[in-house]
Amino acid sequence: MTAVEVIGALFAGPGARDYLGEAVTIGEHMLQAAALAEAARADGPLVAAALLHDIGHLRQAPSRRGLGGSSPRANTDARHGEAGARWLSRWFGAAVTEPVRLHVAAKRYLCAVDAGYSGLLSAESVRTLSLQGGPMTAGEVAAFEALPHGRNAVAVRRWDDRAKDPAVTAPRFAHFAPLLEALLRP
Ligand code: FE
Repeated sequence: MTAVEVIGALFAGPGARDYLGEAVTIGEHMLQAAALAEAARADGPLVAAALLHDIGHLRQAPSRRGLGGSSPRANTDARHGEAGARWLSRWFGAAVTEPVRLHVAAKRYLCAVDAGYSGLLSAESVRTLSLQGGPMTAGEVAAFEALPHGRNAVAVRRWDDRAKDPAVTAPRFAHFAPLLEALLRP
């Protein structure tokens, strides 16, 4: 299978079946995030990052996603960005993988710098925040702002938070496949 077929199979399989405590499947959630990025006229790598931001969840066995028990959940919630970015880095550059890696940190960042932000979070996102380390400290905020892809990670995070609407019909994976093809490393 090609890289895009491998990713498409994750959307069609676990992505279409599994939930993370939200009203939409994980795959639908990621498609909605990508559609929001597209609507915001984000560049191609950032649309791809929005599309793939939770791919780390889809690569875990259901029990490790918290669907079959609660104990491994803290681990996967904190690490799914890292795991997803590491996996994607075989095919995509940092403009795609870094916002994926940092989107969990971006939630902790926004909770620290935006007083209204935590009120926008879903109940599940509030619940996982403590598993992910809670709001950033001032030192962590400064370090995050110095990261080259920190701002893009925040953008992904904002779309992520809005991409949980069961009334929305996002484009299918096939709509984004040519974009992913174009972004593959030579
Ligand atoms: Fe997400």
